[in-house]
Amino acid sequence: MTNPTTHVMKVTKRPYVQMVEGKGSWLYDEDGRTYLDFVQGWAVNCLGHAHPVMLDALQAQASRLINCSPSYYNAPMARLATLVAESSGLHDVYLCNSGAEANEGAIKLARRWGQRHRGGAYEIVTTHGAFHGRTLATMSASGKTAFEPLFEPKVPGFVKVPLNDLDAMAAAITDHTAAVMLEPIQGEAGVFPADDAYLETVRALTRERGVLLILDEIQTGIGRTGRLYAFEHTSVRPDIFTLGKGLGGGVPLAALVASTDASCFEPGDQGGTFGGSALMTAVGCAVMDTVNRPEFLATVRETSDYFVRRLAELAASHGHGAVRGRGLLLAVALTRGDAAAVVEHAFERGLIINAPRPDTLRFMPALNVTRDEVDEMLKLLEPCLP
Ligand code: PLP
Repeated sequence: MTNPTTHVMKVTKRPYVQMVEGKGSWLYDEDGRTYLDFVQGWAVNCLGHAHPVMLDALQAQASRLINCSPSYYNAPMARLATLVAESSGLHDVYLCNSGAEANEGAIKLARRWGQRHRGGAYEIVTTHGAFHGRTLATMSASGKTAFEPLFEPKVPGFVKVPLNDLDAMAAAITDHTAAVMLEPIQGEAGVFPADDAYLETVRALTRERGVLLILDEIQTGIGRTGRLYAFEHTSVRPDIFTLGKGLGGGVPLAALVASTDASCFEPGDQGGTFGGSALMTAVGCAVMDTVNRPEFLATVRETSDYFVRRLAELAASHGHGAVRGRGLLLAVALTRGDAAAVVEHAFERGLIINAPRPDTLRFMPALNVTRDEVDEMLKLLEPCLP
């Protein structure tokens, strides 16, 4: 029999397993094997697999209008923009399809703003270890060492500094700078938070120097850290921020969000065929209506407290290191062994977790994961730990 995956371009290593169904925190493959999913489409399925509010939204919207082209407004597009604007305090929302597309838009918007308001300044200060996406500009903005030799020449205009180093940040902002761009928690780098005090000082510094602050909330947004937006743990309000992943709860949906002062695209500067389609934005509205409720977000924080405590106990009992992160974006440091091997072993036992670096395990479960599922996860993980 021919291998049915033969024609799938091999852009990533994956085990030969085809997933056929998902429900809540559980995934099922074609052979009927069950997996407890603590990666959830890479921190995407914030309500878990096949949540009824998403299914209802998909069905109801698909039978009315899927896509009327970006040439016209549609009702879910307008409603989702309103929900994001009103919940964030920023004014303008551009809806698109992926995190990289939203960040590419943020970079363009900062360059546009620099042309208009800062004498043509176009540099953007980003951080070592940052991950902003896989388009050419967002790879150039990223501070991932593995990206350095790839696809030269890079898009120019990105200056990199170490995360949480205020002196380096202050020195990097010059007359050529249009913006500073940061993740509140560096997710792909291995769950390294920007300190709250650092974010607040960078906000003050960017105001003082007259440059924009862009926050990449693709991984941290939509309740992932226990607040709707991670910046809400601080007094910081960015000029621009981006959302993706959880915003669509599993469907391709992302957003570029800008304050009135920063929002300076002219008609024609930005666009895309699928951006703001009625079907995707209807799902985004259903996700926002579910996640942006005080009791939902309080439960994320409570589950997180429980998860952090139990994970730290397990790690300590095996001589491993500290738990990092916030809400349900968590990681644990391994003091020995290879995290990739742990992930492989866990997968064989029916547990899906992730190793963003050789000494780190990362967990990004559904935001409505239960304590019993956390307990089950730890039970499956324990025998895999070195
Ligand atoms: N920015 C951050 C912080 C991310 O974590 C990711 C994806 O992991 C992206 C951007 C890119 O998003 P996408 O894969 O949807 O293009």
